[in-house]
Amino acid sequence: MSLEIKNLNVQIGESPILKDFSLTVPKGEVHAIMGPNGTGKSTLAKALAGHEDYEIASGEALIDGNSIVGAEPDDIARAGLFLAFQYPSEIPGVTIANFIRAALQARLPEGENLKATEYYKTLYGRMDELKMDRSFTSRAINDGFSGGEKKRCEILQMMMLDPSYVIMDETDSGLDIDALRIVAEGVNKMRGPDRGFLVITHYQRLLEYIVPDYVHVMYDGKIVKSGDKNLALELEEKGYDWVKEELAVNA
Ligand code: ADP
Ligand code: MG
Ligand code: MG
Repeated sequence: MSLEIKNLNVQIGESPILKDFSLTVPKGEVHAIMGPNGTGKSTLAKALAGHEDYEIASGEALIDGNSIVGAEPDDIARAGLFLAFQYPSEIPGVTIANFIRAALQARLPEGENLKATEYYKTLYGRMDELKMDRSFTSRAINDGFSGGEKKRCEILQMMMLDPSYVIMDETDSGLDIDALRIVAEGVNKMRGPDRGFLVITHYQRLLEYIVPDYVHVMYDGKIVKSGDKNLALELEEKGYDWVKEELAVNA
């Protein structure tokens, strides 16, 4: 069981961004992708999630053997992929409880309805685990939330959806230490044999908290180097130019 990406070519408009990108993330493993800005990391995440602006020109993306190329975002989510954190910045009037409920409902087969009592029972159980106050659920999404509160809500959303594969694309601006801990704690709680993680990050710091099984360096639309967690440290120390130089030498 794995998330399998084979020779994926993705373009935005006419520009090729992912170039024969290949990677397999089996359940039970945490893979990290690092790479310089503009190299296509977010494009990978968005293309896999079925974002309409990202056209898969060729190649394969499979969830447990089933192709998700060309599928609608809802169907991809239903297949078990969760892209964290494509969370709207703010939706006035939509509470967290209703937002997560709608996301869960969207994943159910047509004609099947989420049972409210069961939903709230699970939601409150998860919130207790995350030490979140109940009053949170009746607040509108991200309305006046601190960075840490936003992250806690995102982790709650992820736990509730219980995906088989998680792709996390952390923004280049990075997270403050509080938010970083919340994210890492949530991910580490969810790690296990039944789930695979693809953690995309520009910074090594996140990987001190979420210790990956494998680290991959992405450059110009594909993976150019793979290693274990020590590769992240090496990158932090030597920077990405080191990888570029190595590529130039081997070219
Ligand atoms: P990364 O996440 O590694 O910083 P991105 O995937 O965001 O890289 O971007 C890869 C390339 O695609 C960049 O050259 C960027 O300018 C371009 N790009 C990303 N999103 C768009 C878009 N919506 N329209 C046009 N070009 C884009
Ligand atoms: Mg970027
Ligand atoms: Mg990015």
